[in-house]
Amino acid sequence: MLSGMGVSGRIVMGTAVKLESEQLSELDKYLERTEEDIILITPELTVQDVIKFDRYPVVGFVTETGGFNSHLAILARRMELTAVLSVPGCMDFVTDGDYLILDGIEGNLVVNPRRITIENYQKIIQKLCEDDNRIRSLVGKDTVTKDGFQVCLMGNIDNETDAGKVCENGGEGVGLFRTENLYTVRESLPTEEEQFEIYRKIAEKMDGKPITIRTLDAGGDHPISYLEMEQEENPFLGCRGIRYSFRRSDIFKTQCRAILRASAYGKFRILLPMLSSLAELRRARTIIALIREELDQQKIAYDRELPVGVMIETPAAVWLADHFAKEADFLSIGTNDLTQYTIAADRGNKQIAKLYSHYHPAVLRSIEHVVKCCRKENTPVSICGEAAGDARLLPLLFLYGVDELSVSPTAILQTRQQIRSLDLRQYRGILASMNNLSTIEETESCLDAFSATI
Ligand code: PEP
Ligand code: MG
Repeated sequence: MLSGMGVSGRIVMGTAVKLESEQLSELDKYLERTEEDIILITPELTVQDVIKFDRYPVVGFVTETGGFNSHLAILARRMELTAVLSVPGCMDFVTDGDYLILDGIEGNLVVNPRRITIENYQKIIQKLCEDDNRIRSLVGKDTVTKDGFQVCLMGNIDNETDAGKVCENGGEGVGLFRTENLYTVRESLPTEEEQFEIYRKIAEKMDGKPITIRTLDAGGDHPISYLEMEQEENPFLGCRGIRYSFRRSDIFKTQCRAILRASAYGKFRILLPMLSSLAELRRARTIIALIREELDQQKIAYDRELPVGVMIETPAAVWLADHFAKEADFLSIGTNDLTQYTIAADRGNKQIAKLYSHYHPAVLRSIEHVVKCCRKENTPVSICGEAAGDARLLPLLFLYGVDELSVSPTAILQTRQQIRSLDLRQYRGILASMNNLSTIEETESCLDAFSATI
């Protein structure tokens, strides 16, 4: 048995297909004729590789690299693929055609298991299916703790299909539409009309529920091949998110115009990624105001109250949160990047995976501070990073006073179940205790100690 980091999915069984990195560009050649369930073993994968898996019977994958909150792991969760990352030597231990059990919960890979092992795993899979069916009864129920504290629980999406999944799973809206996918799955920029149609169709599906569209977060680990973006030494600290939007304001304007037009058909919100100064919010707002004038002149309808919000992903944004909370219509804390930038630890780098943790007291204090600033100004605040779906953190997020949580569509019901079983009265005193903690480990022990008393 090999072990790594279980980042997504449940437990699957299938046949190994081993591919070297250079073979990944020819998936058709290796996967097309296979009908049995495939578990792909490969040194490294990109988001662009994984997006293509839905054409093949791939049920899971194993890589030698990657972190829990990398975009790769987030995408695997969204696509309901079972994934175990950071398995050193997986390429050496597995042979093409081996029969595998892949456990995305515990992070284990069993190669050519004995019959008794298969039977044991089949029992676990059966139990997990029964649990899944049971929580379906929570569709349409409130996301409220036992002692009556309610949040709005929404879903993170990458495309129109995901919006359907948010509805099926009883999500109360789209808390984050990562629109990068609209740009990366094609060979040229999507036109205003194409985007408008996609947004309008999502509005139809969401039927009056809020839809938060994050404007293109290009750069970082989202290169867009046809845009010929400059090679950067530190792409995560480079021309990413709003910075790229100002460099290519034509792309930003087209997207905002499409969102504004679609806002005549649903309850849209614009969310700006990767801000580190108020000047960026003001500049984006000026561009949006000009588009509104244009639409007025052309007599095109749009929502005049359309909220413009800011992602809090950088320490600079955290320490300007009092100002952002005054000027923006809402804030959304992107804990994935906030963790990476606060600790200066790459979210996808397995060597420092232990350093990268949203339990780091500096990250938790940042979240607490941002929420406090929002409470003071009465500005809605949500969490849309992976921390929002972390059962251990939920009591703390509630006690800070977060209004909304947005998680992967497949995690909505489980998160709702966890919230409905919480009684915040049992966490009295936890905020005071947290103030005395200085390490990731201390935070984890403190959270566990409070839950253990329940
Ligand atoms: C985040 O950074 O927490 C976030 C939600 O955005 P992304 O994961 O797409 O960077
Ligand atoms: Mg981010």
